[in-house]
Order: sequence, then C-alpha cells, then structure tokens
Amino acid sequence: MTEDGVKVVVRVRPMSTGERAQGSASAVTLEPTAVSLGPKTFTFDHVVAPSVGQQEVYTASAAPLLDSFFAGYNATIFAYGQTGSGKTFTMGTDFGGTEPGVIPQVMDAVFARAATLLETKMTTTVFKLSYLEILNEEIFDLLGPTTGDGLRVSDDPKKGVVVVGLSEHPVTSVDDVRSLLLRGSKQRATASTNMNDTSSRSHAICTLTMHQHPASDTEPSKLSKFHLVDLAGSERAKKTLAEGDRFKEGVHINKALLVLGKVITCLSEKRKGKAAFAPYREAKLTRLLQDSLGGNSKTVMIACVSPADVNFDETTSTLRYAEQAR
Ligand code: ADP
Ligand code: MG
Repeated sequence: MTEDGVKVVVRVRPMSTGERAQGSASAVTLEPTAVSLGPKTFTFDHVVAPSVGQQEVYTASAAPLLDSFFAGYNATIFAYGQTGSGKTFTMGTDFGGTEPGVIPQVMDAVFARAATLLETKMTTTVFKLSYLEILNEEIFDLLGPTTGDGLRVSDDPKKGVVVVGLSEHPVTSVDDVRSLLLRGSKQRATASTNMNDTSSRSHAICTLTMHQHPASDTEPSKLSKFHLVDLAGSERAKKTLAEGDRFKEGVHINKALLVLGKVITCLSEKRKGKAAFAPYREAKLTRLLQDSLGGNSKTVMIACVSPADVNFDETTSTLRYAEQAR
C-alpha cells in the first residue's frame, strides 16, 4: 500500500456446488499478489486463495487499520464483487456460520484494545453503532423505525459527515453488535430479483464510532469512525433482467459503484501529485464516506470473486475495477 493509499485484497472463494454441477472449471491462477485470468494478469496488495479462512482475511485487510483507528483516524473497508462472490460471507454481517467474518473480528479486536487502554492508561472509550442501507440512492436506517422516507446527509463541524436522524446505539461488547446487526440484516430490503440474493441491490454500511477520553487533561479526546461496507452486487443491471423500479435500482447502484471507483482513482492520482477532483457528491455512498476516504483515513477494498470459468466476464470486470482502485 502506498502512503495512505487504498489497499486492495482479492479473495477468491471456493468453487460452489452449483458451479461444480455445471461442470465449470477454475479459470484463475493465483500468486501472492497477482491473479491471472485468461490472457490478463492483475496485480494487488494481497491475494487470498479459496482454501484460506476468515482469520487470514482479517489479518490481511482489517487488522492493519486498528492502529490508525485508535490514533483518531477514520477507516473504511469495502467488500466489492458480483452477487454470490462472497461479500457478505467475508464481512460476516449476519454473524452466521462457524467462522466469524471481518466485522465480528474487528469488533473483538477493538473492544479488547479498548479494555487494555482503560487498564494501562485509564482512557475510557465510548462506542456507538449505526447500520444503514443505501437503496436506489436513498438512505434507510436499518436499526430505526421503518418509515418510508430516506435520510439526508449533512456536515457537522465536530462529527464530520453525519446522516441526519440516523439512530446510534451504544455498544460495549461483540454480543451487543451481533444482536443489532442481526436485527438490521432482517430489515434489509427484501424485493427479490432473479439473481436470488435479496440484498444484492443495496449497499449496507455498518459504522462503529469510537470516542476516546484520556484520563489526563493534556491529551485531547479523539473521535473516529470505522465503516464496514457490504456493497451492492457489481453485476451489470441487464443481467438481473430487472424491470421498472428494479431496473432503476440497478442503474443507481452501478452508478454509485462507478462514482466510488472514480473517487478512489482521484485519490491515488492526487497522491501521485496530479490535480484531480473527487466527485464525492455524485452518489450517496461516496458523500456519506467523504470524510473517511482520502486524507489520513485508511481504506481497504476486498474484491470478492468466484474461481469458476462461467463467471469469467464478471470476474474480469471485478479484477479490473479493483486493480484501478490501487
Ligand atoms: P454475496 O454477498 O457476494 O452475494 P455471499 O457472501 O452470500 O455472496 O456468498 C455466496 C455463497 O457462497 C454463500 O452460500 C456463502 O456461504 C458461500 N461462500 C462465499 N465465500 C465463501 C468462502 N470463502 N468459503 C466458503 N463459502 C463461501
Ligand atoms: Mg450479500
């Protein structure tokens, strides 16, 4: 990763039973920092092979962000990829399965470190969790009352970018987080498309806000945000055969991913000394994360892909997008 750059980790999931049943073969060749697909080779910071478990994904992606988070800077982790590529499994939003994903591991590590800070430096730490969804360019609170109206984004002089009216829930343990995320995941939009995953059209953002209060008056208190983002499926709208409203959602979603790509590319251009304007305001997703992308914030993208040759085109487009993000 270049200094305060975007780190890109590619995770290749195991072949699914469905893919095997279709007689699909693996189309990817993996190296520690490269993936080859057909005639092309793409380069990344880290490549996670299908046999590798959740703990190593956490170690390669989220663990390096903790120092900076505790130093008072914001952090963002995105899971990007087509529906079925393993985004939700990787993030562990639903806390299901036997192997905890990135979110529960982040929470474990953060709460453990906060406990240590209290013991060693008498620094008290206050945590709040919020969980929202962006669907069709509208923001919905997944932990609040289910009203029909989307929420507005605004700038607060102390807190940075805020979502007006978004509920914030005090949390002190991984269990607190688990029950909130389970509740929120149930509330996630349920209209289905024929790409089967009900949540494939929306971006889900889980944000842990940390307020550190040092015991000594000479040390300033620190506020930082850790965003864990399960992005909408990156497949093209036409593939979902969606119509009407559904299609509009598809178009918006892909636009948001496009804008995210543009913003991230601008940030890396800026670091190379080129003048670039990052179009944060062109999508709710990037507007919401405006104070958490670039500057001193740390960003990691986990690009999730299937190894199967039946997904050749989508995997190529995911790898291309992810490579450009570096
Ligand atoms: P997405 O959120 O990108 O649509 P999911 O996370 O729902 O994809 O993954 C699709 C399916 O593949 C799920 O049944 C999930 O359990 C399985 N899966 C994804 N990644 C892995 C992995 N690394 N190891 C084992 N199973 C996985
Ligand atoms: Mg999912």
